[in-house]
Amino acid sequence: MPEQFDIVVLGAGHNSLIAAAYLAKAGYRCLVLESRALVGGGVKTTELTLRGFKHDICSSAHVLIQDSPILRDDELGLGEYGLEYIFPDPVVHLPFPDGSYITQWRDMDRTCEDFARFSRKDAAAYRRMMTDYEAVKPLFAAASYTPIGFGKSLNERLAEHPKGRIWQRRLAMSAWEIIRDNFEDEHCRAFMVWMAYQTVEPPEAATTGRLAYSICAGRQRWSWTTPKGGSGTLTQALARLIEAHGGTILTNKTVARLTVENGKCTGVESTDGSAYTARMAVLSTIHIKHLVDMAPVEAFGEDFLSGVRTWRAGITLFLTHYATTEPPKFPVAGGTISSVAAGTMATAERGLRVGYDFRMGNVNVEDPPLLVVSSTVADPSRAPAGMHTIKVIGNQPYELKEGPEHWDKIKNEVSDANLKYLRKFAPNLTDDKILARIVESPLDLERMNAHNWHGTCHGGAQDLAQSGGLRPVPGWAGHRMPIAGLYQTGATTYPGGSVSGGPGRNAAAVMLKDFGSSLEAVVKRKA
Ligand SMILES: Cc1cc2nc3c(=O)[nH]c(=O)nc-3n(C[C@H](O)[C@H](O)[C@H](O)COP(=O)(O)OP(=O)(O)OC[C@H]3O[C@@H](n4cnc5c(N)ncnc54)[C@H](O)[C@@H]3O)c2cc1C
Repeated sequence: MPEQFDIVVLGAGHNSLIAAAYLAKAGYRCLVLESRALVGGGVKTTELTLRGFKHDICSSAHVLIQDSPILRDDELGLGEYGLEYIFPDPVVHLPFPDGSYITQWRDMDRTCEDFARFSRKDAAAYRRMMTDYEAVKPLFAAASYTPIGFGKSLNERLAEHPKGRIWQRRLAMSAWEIIRDNFEDEHCRAFMVWMAYQTVEPPEAATTGRLAYSICAGRQRWSWTTPKGGSGTLTQALARLIEAHGGTILTNKTVARLTVENGKCTGVESTDGSAYTARMAVLSTIHIKHLVDMAPVEAFGEDFLSGVRTWRAGITLFLTHYATTEPPKFPVAGGTISSVAAGTMATAERGLRVGYDFRMGNVNVEDPPLLVVSSTVADPSRAPAGMHTIKVIGNQPYELKEGPEHWDKIKNEVSDANLKYLRKFAPNLTDDKILARIVESPLDLERMNAHNWHGTCHGGAQDLAQSGGLRPVPGWAGHRMPIAGLYQTGATTYPGGSVSGGPGRNAAAVMLKDFGSSLEAVVKRKA
């Protein structure tokens, strides 16, 4: 006899855990099944290299979620379960090949002074853009944390705002067009392109205009926000909350099949043969490309299946994790600087090549744009005394001309090239400072988390065809799937990838409504 629960949750990324947290708080008996040994998906911290070195396997920056009702209004009380944030200063440091640099500081005036060293006009543009975005940010946040079909769309909200029309135009433009039109100096443009690219959408693509503002503004407001102890502190806190509210979490449980009875999803089976029954609903964060193989095709229907067939992966990342005796030290006037986040972007033009190389399947290690995260600069608790973790993230395609398996042959070479380039800017990172390294190609990212389908870190591209009401599939953007009783959350659903918690909270809102309650009622309840 399969074990019975009210709700069975498939996969334990931060989104499905957030949804389960609201549902467990509402009094539903939840079971979470996770295929890996540890919950968290892209929000996970482990001793990947050496004992005592706590590496964020994927995400480190929890910026978007700071503006969510989940944290802003403390809806889940995650502080009681161990979640605490650090707001590092400096925020980001970008050195350039000519020896100059721009540092983003928490203090806007200080950041503008860095821009003004290159151009006073660009410093004024930076301040103006950050201020402009802050004025409309509540509209973006409200739209992101409202399930599709539950309230006004972003476009409707903008239409009611005095500055809404100009924002409608900006959203339709590319981030690069906005940067080019507002900044005159090549360094300032390179800095802004690097920032706009941080959610890995090609900055030259139409409809990325918001990213020219939002990523920079988020970091100017919140810094490179990161949980104390590691990115995984968030998912660990959620797991504790779920268990404290009667939920069960089982790891090393890979879901293989959905149980469909009389057209309704009533449970699941895992690869080890265990079966679990859901009295009310099944909530999935299984990638949609895999989900459709878990039930008979008739159950999904042709419209949904064709939507899944046309789903495309997004730009993929290439990582190297290091355990070191020093953080990167970047030469600046009067000494060196170390920052939780740093990066390289030789020129804005180089940033515009990333999307092209991805689409063409080119491995490009020439002047690679990099993100270099050294969380131990602000959080020494993540490594043994005086030691550091460094994560170097570049962009390389999953699909190679020789096939994705070719990555196993070339990944060390690509990692070496990235390090060689980084050393031009942080010459202290010599071999004797490096104690261990782990390289993760786009193929490895997929191997370690099936939700990173084709290595994609946000479930899939987040362009016009896969955004808003079209995510994951036109007609099914509201988290309710074609099979009754089956709901979908995670990065393949609106509002998309990143550590925002939006897909999780929105899915919970839809489910609670369907159960005759509401998310607001759950939030109002004490404990
Ligand atoms: C290298 C990298 C760096 C990143 N950095 C950042 C960052 O700094 N800031 C940021 O905001 N975002 C970042 N992201 C993106 C962010 O990590 C993801 O968008 C986010 O974690 C997705 O969360 P999710 O809850 O939707 O799904 P996931 O975190 O992907 O979780 C899905 C879970 O489902 C499980 N699963 C899949 N299939 C099955 C199955 N059949 N049975 C059982 N379980 C299953 C997986 O094991 C996984 O635990 C990064 C991503 C990558 C890859």
